[in-house]
Amino acid sequence: MKVNYAIGIDIGGTETKFGIIKCEDKNNFILEHWWSIKTICGQKNAEYMLDVIVNEVEKIKNLRSIKFDVCGVAVAALLDFYKGHIIYAPNLMWGNLKLKNLLEKKLGLPVIIDNDANIATLGIFYSKIKHKYPKVKNIVCFTLGTGVGGGVVYKGELLHGEIFSATELGHITVEPDGELCGCGNRGCLERYIGARWFVNNIIKELKKKKVKTIIYKLVNNNLADLNTKILYDAAEKNDKYSLHKWKLFGKYLGIAISNLVNIFAPEVIVFTGGVANAYKFFLPYTIQEVKNRVWPIIKDVKHPLLQNMKYEVVAGQNYGVIGAGILAIKSFLL
Ligand SMILES: [Zn+2]
Repeated sequence: MKVNYAIGIDIGGTETKFGIIKCEDKNNFILEHWWSIKTICGQKNAEYMLDVIVNEVEKIKNLRSIKFDVCGVAVAALLDFYKGHIIYAPNLMWGNLKLKNLLEKKLGLPVIIDNDANIATLGIFYSKIKHKYPKVKNIVCFTLGTGVGGGVVYKGELLHGEIFSATELGHITVEPDGELCGCGNRGCLERYIGARWFVNNIIKELKKKKVKTIIYKLVNNNLADLNTKILYDAAEKNDKYSLHKWKLFGKYLGIAISNLVNIFAPEVIVFTGGVANAYKFFLPYTIQEVKNRVWPIIKDVKHPLLQNMKYEVVAGQNYGVIGAGILAIKSFLL
């Protein structure tokens, strides 16, 4: 097979990353080189930002004498995967942008775009999970950060719905009449375990009533300084209040995962993103909640599904560019 190259691009609210992805065969992709630049946000700057991106691609092409065959782009956005249109990208302040068409014209390459969490899932699937478990075909991946994103690989392919990109795992309902989420719905997973909400809910509670916890001491009584790192440190110091909050975090995550297990029966559940590092405080409760809630037949100790289902915490941050390159190669060349 001819060696193919893709340029993978991950456009985030702060920085835009680029990567050269080499395809060796249909299961092996290598990130040969990556770099990043600052993102220029705003709708009126959108075309200018695309010109900056094209300029970066041209520069590396000349510098390395490389010929790209395809281009994949990850964007933190609600988008129409099939048309390649951005519907709404709050972090970039982009709306209604025909990104695929514009980039294809400017780059002269076939371009595919997808939501950043979906693409990171594909990147993790091929660059981590397939290496460790070569036979695995179905995974669910949660990105645990300020918000909660996610993706599903089903039978080796990213799962997409119609019209928009899916899969918004952060907006699975975990409390039917729960707190109001940023998306307008109530009781979404992200509203409880997205770092921003997780921390703010605790600040609100600690302001309302005096609780026995070392958190006050750790933030010098300035609750505005609270973050997930401090909640991790407090749990590490065996602070009962913080340990309980991580337990609730794990339970909510488990509720969402049990629904996905009943639907997809994934072989591996992946956690990535900064907050995933606190897994030792939440994962045991997640696993227990999944056991409590899945179908009785799956729960049976003799049933292989839960026995064999793996939970993996994956660190690293270039899965967006790797996944974008892989998606482009798989979509246009394989
Ligand atoms: Zn929501």
